[in-house]
Amino acid sequence: MDLFKKIQDLIMRDVANENETKKSSIIMRCTSIFLAIFFVIQTIDLFIAGYSRAGILSVCCIIGYAGAFILTYQGYTILTQHYIEVLTLGWIAAFIALLGWNCSYQHIIFTLFLFSLLTSYQDIAYKVLWALFLCVFRIVLYIYAHTHVPYYTVNEVQSYVLNIVNTTFTFCLFFVIAMLFAKDSMEMEQKLMKYNKKIEKLAKTDTLTNLPNRRDAIERIEKHIRKSNDTDFYLNIAIGDIDFFKRINDTFGHEAGDAILVQLSDIFRDVMKESGFAARWGGEEFLFVFTSENADVSAMKLNDLRTKISQTAFKYNDTEMHLTMTFGLEEYDFHHSIDDLINSADQKLYLGKTKGRNQVVF
Ligand code: GH3
Ligand code: MG
Ligand code: MG
Repeated sequence: MDLFKKIQDLIMRDVANENETKKSSIIMRCTSIFLAIFFVIQTIDLFIAGYSRAGILSVCCIIGYAGAFILTYQGYTILTQHYIEVLTLGWIAAFIALLGWNCSYQHIIFTLFLFSLLTSYQDIAYKVLWALFLCVFRIVLYIYAHTHVPYYTVNEVQSYVLNIVNTTFTFCLFFVIAMLFAKDSMEMEQKLMKYNKKIEKLAKTDTLTNLPNRRDAIERIEKHIRKSNDTDFYLNIAIGDIDFFKRINDTFGHEAGDAILVQLSDIFRDVMKESGFAARWGGEEFLFVFTSENADVSAMKLNDLRTKISQTAFKYNDTEMHLTMTFGLEEYDFHHSIDDLINSADQKLYLGKTKGRNQVVF
């Protein structure tokens, strides 16, 4: 089990160069190991059968694929890809010349085609040309094999053995390459989905306070209205603005001002969690969207929030700061737009500012 884990780690190890992908290297490593094992079996069988030249070629192939395996750790992904392609086409031609067409060595060409398609990053024209080349290569081999007598005359038993071994390995290698690619694609898809979700959240969230931003707030309100049915529908919107916030920045510094915005947002989130949500409307202005109670209850809750804020000691380093907020609250009437509703709340906020601040205007 330990050995299995070690081999797995070795195959899955990342490539040295950052601009080359792990997927191609893993497919190449698996292909190299797979074909090296294939040639160990070939070597044993071919020497037993007395086809010593084919046996020696087979040993060379083991060394060749071991070299390919090592190359993938040196950061030469593209070079390794072409090396495996040339090596594979070379031995297919050589084995057909030695043992003839009927031992099924030519089937590996299809697996090689899949290997090239999935490991290369060349453009589509290159891939089409490569497909054409492999097709022509196979036809030429076929013609050659049927116009030339092979070096060895393969007996019936060996023909069975080689056909079964070669066909089995061709299928298995095809399967391994396809599975590795499918696994990689699924992982990529999952990574992409996670990443998209993260981006979507970032686009909707205010970075300082982690509250929904203006765009998200509008989207949520629109969604709430779309979902509305006449019973149990509530929508009351308030805009709140910190009183004399500029003074706080001027006295304690901008960072202290930021710290207050963050602490205030935590209070808003807590207070609004059962009533709807709070959003950062911009600067030191916040939007409060009440979706689960009538306007009188919302006004009462806002008043409680206003009192709570006025009694809270906001802290930054060792400094304690006190502040108040003014709110304008408006109730949705089904006739006006969301913009009108927010403008109306804003006018009430302005009225509150002119009437002495630290109040809820409804
Ligand atoms: P009023 O009671 O009339 O609202 O007075 P005010 O000083 O709060 O109003 P004003 O619009 O004159 O100033 C708002 C200040 O809020 C100015 C700006 O520097 C500050 N502000 C806006 N966004 C941020 C922020 O993200 N961080 C900090 N620290 N300050 C901000
Ligand atoms: Mg303001
Ligand atoms: Mg202000």
